Amino acid sequence: MMRISRLLLVGLVALLAGCATGGLRINTDHSSRAQDSRIRYIVVHYTAGESARALAVLTSGDVSAHYLIDNDASASIYQLVDESRRAWHAGDSEWEGRNSLNASSIGIELVNRGFRDTDQGRVWYPFPQAQIDALILLLKDIKQRQGIRGEHILGHSDIAPQRKLDPGPLFPWHKLAEAGVIPWPPQALVDHRLSQLGGIVPPVSWFQEQLARIGYTIDQTGEFDEQTKNVIAAFQMRYRQTLFDGQPDLETAAWLMSLPAQQ
Ligand SMILES: [Zn+2]
Repeated sequence: MMRISRLLLVGLVALLAGCATGGLRINTDHSSRAQDSRIRYIVVHYTAGESARALAVLTSGDVSAHYLIDNDASASIYQLVDESRRAWHAGDSEWEGRNSLNASSIGIELVNRGFRDTDQGRVWYPFPQAQIDALILLLKDIKQRQGIRGEHILGHSDIAPQRKLDPGPLFPWHKLAEAGVIPWPPQALVDHRLSQLGGIVPPVSWFQEQLARIGYTIDQTGEFDEQTKNVIAAFQMRYRQTLFDGQPDLETAAWLMSLPAQQ
């Protein structure tokens, strides 16, 4: 009897000592009003490869994404990284002067082979409707939960125009606009801006200023150089997909004039 009591006492002392020294206690009864999501952008990519290979690369390689959407009939959505954690999808990237966007974005990869170069020129692979429908549902869900603005849904080519082309000129940004996911200027406004230009293409310095105004990273050189051509091409791949040669032209100027500044 005596022996059992002593054992009990030793156990009780150990328990109390543990509470006093090692037990971290945090009171979560109060919460600040001034807070928001760390996620500011959603970046859309294509995988430049088929489904099985993309899944293998994104799960066991050095790159990753939060979501992967298949291009088969079922358009399965795979979540590979929790939204609260950082995925490695954006690389060297910048938008609105903010860089290293992996830390502040959600990455979505679409299974798509990208393009192939043929004797007749570059041929791009289209995105099936089911895949775009799935993407739109996912974007609406993330936007709502994380409080992300439509203007902050970007392509990899928008945030890294000097080295990336995805999601490419066949990615249907206008369908995202029709679904209310991203803003889009009305065609009548673009037509009006086009007529205002009176057939005169603005100088290259104007294009550089306008592209920077809406968020692109571009050096203000005042000259039509390679970096300017790449950024104009990225802009055209999003808004004026029939021609994305990177040349500063009237129609591109009209589109630029129709877009509000980013906030
Ligand atoms: Zn990409």
